[in-house]
Amino acid sequence: MFDKLTDSLRSSLKKIRDAVFVDDQLINEITRDVQRSLLQADVNVKLVMQLTARIKERIKGEPPKGLSKKDYLVTVLYEELASFLGGEGAKIQINKKPFTMMLVGLFGNGKTTTAGKLAKYYQKRGLKVVMLSTDTWRPAAAEQLLQLGKQIGVPAYGDPSQKDPVKVLKKFSEELKKADLVIIDTAGRDALNDELIEELKRISDAVKADEVLLVMAADVGQGAEQQAKTFNETCGVTGVIITKLDGTAKGGGALSACAVTKAPVKFIGVGEKIDALEEFKPKNFVGRLLGMGDLETLLEKAHEAISEDDAKDLQKKLLKGDFTLIDLYDQMEAMQKMGPLGKVMEMIPGMGQLQIPKEALKVQEGKLVTWKHIMSSMTKEELEDPEIMNPKRISRVANGSGTKESDVRELMKQHKQSKKLFKMLKGRGSEKDMQKMMKKMQGMMQR
Ligand code: GDP
Ligand code: MG
Repeated sequence: MFDKLTDSLRSSLKKIRDAVFVDDQLINEITRDVQRSLLQADVNVKLVMQLTARIKERIKGEPPKGLSKKDYLVTVLYEELASFLGGEGAKIQINKKPFTMMLVGLFGNGKTTTAGKLAKYYQKRGLKVVMLSTDTWRPAAAEQLLQLGKQIGVPAYGDPSQKDPVKVLKKFSEELKKADLVIIDTAGRDALNDELIEELKRISDAVKADEVLLVMAADVGQGAEQQAKTFNETCGVTGVIITKLDGTAKGGGALSACAVTKAPVKFIGVGEKIDALEEFKPKNFVGRLLGMGDLETLLEKAHEAISEDDAKDLQKKLLKGDFTLIDLYDQMEAMQKMGPLGKVMEMIPGMGQLQIPKEALKVQEGKLVTWKHIMSSMTKEELEDPEIMNPKRISRVANGSGTKESDVRELMKQHKQSKKLFKMLKGRGSEKDMQKMMKKMQGMMQR
């Protein structure tokens, strides 16, 4: 999916990284690359020009404190692309029971398949889901949904003998009431005509849909804008699901076209399988295209500071909860290059609120050399498990390394605190953040 776009955007990033400095020539080259990449992904020319003009305009300014011009260029690129695709995105809030989603769209765009995917998605998240087919247009339509329901263990209803969709709805209204989430699959047509509009309005009025989701296949490309507009005006669409992004190079066109309309993309379909559905978050999406997470600043710096293998090892250790002295040393060295640990933590979502002991955050400037000496006098066993350090061992190490016992104790204390810190990050539900961060670091380093 998006292989071409990914490749070309990443090669632009590489150009930035490899450049000696950011000058007009580089900026022109990068914006031209971005234009070409987006046009190839079927994005509308006018939109592309607006986007690159904005990027150029912003990069003219001074970078924020602490960011190099290169970092800034990457950041601007990332932010503008993300806002181009819808910015923060619009998550569906399931805030009542039953919550009703209605899928609308033209023939063959993936409504029924997506109904099944959504059912599975929300079932996995603990909701009691039911599906209903109001597609009385095609004889086999209800059967297709019932089959999907069986496959994923979600109750599905439909009545192939009934011609009026609203009657189908009435027939199963008791079953629908009991659910947390009701997913209504509707019939399509070849084009949006009065008959379809009328039918969708009647269904929507009857079910009082909380979300009316337009299901649209990505191969419409830029045509997505017109389609979204028409459906929006006639059926009150609250969101869009772009399907078949796995099978076309035009996905960029469809996604950016939707961002222009007032109907945000809420999910994307990325394959025929039942779990090939993703919530659409523009920032994460662009992060993935560019090969980095939404922690772009941190990662750009981290890239210089930690090598890929180190990051992998560290991740393993952090997740296991053991954290040796050697890790501490590596960590301190890396943090020195990256900037204060406190700043780094601020950049990780959800970590700003943690009560982290101040001492644990202080990078011990000038201590690294002393620590290196101390550590070279310690046995492997001691390095791996500093808890075993007792006064006798401390004295031995201090003598052997030509340092003071207080230095050795300080190192032990620092280790204990850092270990506690990482335990805390683990224990406070932030393990996922940590995992995410590490994954993204790796992703970025593999570029
Ligand atoms: P409907 O007429 O809108 O209900 O469309 P269907 O759900 O019956 O889907 C039409 C075809 O598109 C089926 O062959 C699906 O397997 C396929 N399809 C749906 N979503 C996706 C997707 O995200 N990727 C791919 N590759 N195929 C999809
Ligand atoms: Mg269908």
